[in-house]
Amino acid sequence: MKNYQITVLKGDGIGPEIVDQAIKVLDRTAQKHGFAVNYDCQLLGGAAIDATGVPLPQATVDSCKAADSVLLGAVGGPKWDSQPGNNRPEKGLLGIRQALGLYANLRPAVIFGPLRDASPLKPEIIGDSLDIMVVRELTGGIYFGDRGTEEVNGVKSAYDTERYSVQEIERIARVAFDMAQKRDRRLCSVDKANVLDSSRLWRATVDRLAPEYPEVAVSHLYVDNCAMQLVRDPAQFDVILTSNMFGDILSDEASMISGSIGMLASASLGSGGLGLYEPIHGSAPDIAGQDAANPLATILSVAMMLRYSLDQPQAAKDIEAAVAKALDQARTRDIATKETGVRLVGCQEMGDIVAGLI
Ligand code: NAD
Repeated sequence: MKNYQITVLKGDGIGPEIVDQAIKVLDRTAQKHGFAVNYDCQLLGGAAIDATGVPLPQATVDSCKAADSVLLGAVGGPKWDSQPGNNRPEKGLLGIRQALGLYANLRPAVIFGPLRDASPLKPEIIGDSLDIMVVRELTGGIYFGDRGTEEVNGVKSAYDTERYSVQEIERIARVAFDMAQKRDRRLCSVDKANVLDSSRLWRATVDRLAPEYPEVAVSHLYVDNCAMQLVRDPAQFDVILTSNMFGDILSDEASMISGSIGMLASASLGSGGLGLYEPIHGSAPDIAGQDAANPLATILSVAMMLRYSLDQPQAAKDIEAAVAKALDQARTRDIATKETGVRLVGCQEMGDIVAGLI
């Protein structure tokens, strides 16, 4: 029997509650599909500061490096707001991404049928379904380039530099091509090649790789046009490939289309298939400990883990289908509806319902 080793970082606030539900669903899925999962729970963020004095203990890094995959809840909260900047919970998050060399950020924007009303877009624009994957480069570009502030002849100026090597572009482009092959085989690369040299290298590199993936249809869009097309006709997109800064902005725009922060999963991938999977929301300290959190983003993060790190695509589909069915009968407070026949449930019961539908 296949046996996977998962490092679990529950984190702070609602982290432990939502991760427990995701584990419940993963255990049920493993049982159905005939594989086993071992969990190693480690500390990250505020919980790690309380126990060890630092947000990212070495034991956490070692466990993640030895694992097949990492599941994370969320970190942070008012309790640790007075910590110095380099010892805050969020430092643990950046630190673990860096330690694992996670250079690809995957953010799906999906609308589940029963939640169509939650989208700010009109139903005729959303169409029958919406399922976009933004693949964002995470460790290069302008956020990591040369920067500075200087004053010459009394005039102050500041600069940041966008620099990408061919290797960095190739590495992230291959993630996006592989992703497109597992999905609807359409890849849209987004850049600003009409203005930026770095974008022209980006576009040329994507075009050079394209013949290696003949089944993937490749297109290019300028980032300003892409921002417009996302709200004009989002269904035209399958996989969007883009740089760190453009991806930061476009992935937030795309995720808003789905309407609810409690529904959105994400993955950060490094070399060798190791991935870190987490909901995009934070630790929601305002509702922590009340059994009110929506666990579906974390449960959907497990589906991404099964698909992209553990090569269990059918198990991933089962979880996504169970989430869609669960929404027909039950909702947590953040996605509540007045429809008859749909119950308001807590975090644990939502986990039970999804697990029961696997
Ligand atoms: P947040 O995402 O935690 O919460 C924003 C709002 O959304 C809150 O009203 C919250 O109750 C609600 N919400 C979030 N997730 C929900 C869920 N699953 N179910 C129901 N409602 C949900 O953002 P914030 O309030 O800006 O940040 C709170 C803490 O989380 C801060 O310390 C912040 O630094 C941290 N944070 C961590 C991460 C992470 O771990 N990846 C990401 C963002 C923020």
